[in-house]
Amino acid sequence: MQKTVVVAGGGISGLAACYYLAKNASVSKIILLEGSSRLGGWLKSTRTEDGAVFEHGPRGIRPAGSVGKNTLTMIADIAIDSLCRGVFAGDCRQLSVRSCLPALYEAERKRRSIILGLALGGEGEGPRIDSDLTRRAKRERWSQWSLRRGMETLPEAMEEFLRGRGVEIHRDTPLQRLERTVDNCWKITLPEGSVVADHLISAVPAQALSRLLPASAEPLAAELRQIQAVSVGVVNLQYDGAVLPITGFGHLVPSSEDSAILGVVYDSVAFPDQNRHGAPSTRLTVMMGGAWFEKGIGEPDKVSHNQLLRRASKAVTSHLGLSATPTRAIVKLHKDCLPQYTVGHWKRIENISKYLEYQLLPLNLVGASYEGVSVNDCISSAQKAVGRLLRQQ
Ligand SMILES: Cc1cc2nc3c(=O)[nH]c(=O)nc-3n(C[C@H](O)[C@H](O)[C@H](O)COP(=O)(O)OP(=O)(O)OC[C@H]3O[C@@H](n4cnc5c(N)ncnc54)[C@H](O)[C@@H]3O)c2cc1C
Repeated sequence: MQKTVVVAGGGISGLAACYYLAKNASVSKIILLEGSSRLGGWLKSTRTEDGAVFEHGPRGIRPAGSVGKNTLTMIADIAIDSLCRGVFAGDCRQLSVRSCLPALYEAERKRRSIILGLALGGEGEGPRIDSDLTRRAKRERWSQWSLRRGMETLPEAMEEFLRGRGVEIHRDTPLQRLERTVDNCWKITLPEGSVVADHLISAVPAQALSRLLPASAEPLAAELRQIQAVSVGVVNLQYDGAVLPITGFGHLVPSSEDSAILGVVYDSVAFPDQNRHGAPSTRLTVMMGGAWFEKGIGEPDKVSHNQLLRRASKAVTSHLGLSATPTRAIVKLHKDCLPQYTVGHWKRIENISKYLEYQLLPLNLVGASYEGVSVNDCISSAQKAVGRLLRQQ
């Protein structure tokens, strides 16, 4: 395909789309446009000088099922040895909430906290996909895996891989407007100048794409606008010593008890390799808000980091009896980070697909807004979109 494909958005979905495009020799030019100054989107890790890792987004990825195996196979293929060596499994492999408390898991996963469902629970089986890493995951019975230096290692390694394959990567380059040209290409307006693309893969959130589309694509923009996302407060805490009174991946909080707190992840139990060096420590992450943000905490725009920290500390004290002052606390407020698949979502997805098909728009949509929010789902959606695009050529 002697054509230019632009990928909008450098989160894991956009990076994965570039990866699958770059593996196909027939695509002549791939350009990744990321609006912010960093790649990875919600994959964000803080690494401290004493060796600890704090995840502000995803922390554990499921190896099971076809989408889980797909992700591990991509990692093995990126073939950066250090990255493969850095893949490691959750420590309490036999202890997932799903197997211990299936009813709670299902209820919480479906209704209350998709994020915690992702961090604590699992995904289904699917077709056979094999690689050294998937075989290792199976042999060692991983229930989830992470990367020794944090999940952000993944976008870092992907960037290196993509640059090596000639993909043009531009940060601080938000798409501002999309216009269709007479020969059915896109003219993409950027802060400085514009670029013409034969095809666009959008990996930005649905709401962001709805603001870029031309007036002629209003029916599509209207569907996209309805896919809204909720905000989540993420508070990472570190304590001296192994202070947890129980073991496990974490716990979920029913909304009837405290609507502000979604749950607490026991990171130091699940991934002890990411604890600081030296004396024992406990790392926890308190997840707050989601669909209950406004009701339980307040307007995301008006809530301070101190407020979030106070609520998180109070929850940890009352749920786990930890009253010591944390030795480290990192607070993040992720605005509109989790798309909500509300009633009618699947119908909207069908309408969007039909619209793209009938209008012959040179556009594919990938990412968490559409068909699954897990990292595995995002990578799988990118793979499918690139497959469709290449078959159309
Ligand atoms: C707190 C939290 C915990 C999570 N935990 C887990 C977990 O444990 N396991 C799991 O599997 N999943 C988890 N998830 C879900 C998963 O991390 C996300 O669904 C996934 O990372 C979304 O990736 P994405 O590339 O689709 O979108 P994003 O990460 O949102 O990336 C979109 C990118 O587009 C860019 N962008 C936006 N507008 C423009 C524009 N106009 N021009 C150019 N660029 C633009 C943004 O800057 C961003 O980089 C979690 C998510 C959150 C927020």
